[in-house]
Amino acid sequence: METRIFSQELDCHLTPILKNKIRVEMIYFRNSLFCLGVTFRVHFYVGQGEKEERVVTGGLLVGRPRRSLCLFVFSEEAMCRGEEKQGAPATLHSPGASTDGPPPIVTEEKLMNSGHELHEGYTCPLCCLPIKLPVVKHSEVKPCCSKTVCNGCRLAACKHGMANTCPFCRTSFPESGAATLALVQKRVDVKDPVATALLADAYYYGDHGVQQDIPRAIELWTEAARLGDLNTHFKLGVIYYKGEGLELDVGRGVRHWRHAAIQGHPLSRHSLAVHEYINGNHELGVQHWMISAKMGCERSLNGIKEMFMKGHATKAQYTAALKGYQTALEETKSPQREEARAFFNKSK
Ligand SMILES: [Zn+2]
Ligand SMILES: [Zn+2]
Repeated sequence: METRIFSQELDCHLTPILKNKIRVEMIYFRNSLFCLGVTFRVHFYVGQGEKEERVVTGGLLVGRPRRSLCLFVFSEEAMCRGEEKQGAPATLHSPGASTDGPPPIVTEEKLMNSGHELHEGYTCPLCCLPIKLPVVKHSEVKPCCSKTVCNGCRLAACKHGMANTCPFCRTSFPESGAATLALVQKRVDVKDPVATALLADAYYYGDHGVQQDIPRAIELWTEAARLGDLNTHFKLGVIYYKGEGLELDVGRGVRHWRHAAIQGHPLSRHSLAVHEYINGNHELGVQHWMISAKMGCERSLNGIKEMFMKGHATKAQYTAALKGYQTALEETKSPQREEARAFFNKSK
């Protein structure tokens, strides 16, 4: 059965997963949504991770939901096939990356005009707020569904009696490294880019009882990048740029960063700034840093500050970057996250 969704509102945001007709879709909408010719199980996530579930059979679903409501739509076909058909998650995933080897060349114009907004993978799928950078410090990737859940929603889930299940997909937390690996492997088998990157990490660091195997890790990272994982493009960028474990290839490293930067990956943008700066292209470096600072990257803001102090950036540039950074930071805040920050700091 083909999943067809029609929205009459421009506010409806369809992520690439739905366009690829895989399994799950997250739609932000403010007005109405129409689902035709297909049965859906609809999960409404309202506010602090609370859930309402409804089965909608064919026809029409019209809603005027509250602001920031998320709608998750599972097609009947996918529900029947279950896990076998689980597709790529939204997490830092770039569709269309289908070639082996280095990513395609990005023109200078496209590089400077694209990727000024954080990729949707930086948004928590439960509270729908952008996650503060560095994401790894303020969220956790779940091995069961590959979703990046913010610390605020993790704490809220615990308070709602879900301390031992994933707040997104409700899978019980794995109790051993082997069980974690089994969950990851299941998603690797269906070509999930995030899971493929997680498995690569396990081989690289020798985690979860896996024997350390760096060539295998690099092979898996290459696959994760091919599948479109932006974090992996960044990581491979570093590996090739510095020649860590692979033959030094600065050009290929830069290509990985450019590929991720145009899709809204701030650390890749930051790395491009550093690359330009050390090659004497101060103005271009500052321009890259301006973009990533406005996405909430503190390292980039510090880069501009240093440029300003050395006379390579103007006061107006520094002021604009600072203002943009502060705005981005404000957008990541919520009372739930403040509470989580205090809680996780205390429990360290
Ligand atoms: Zn959240
Ligand atoms: Zn999960």
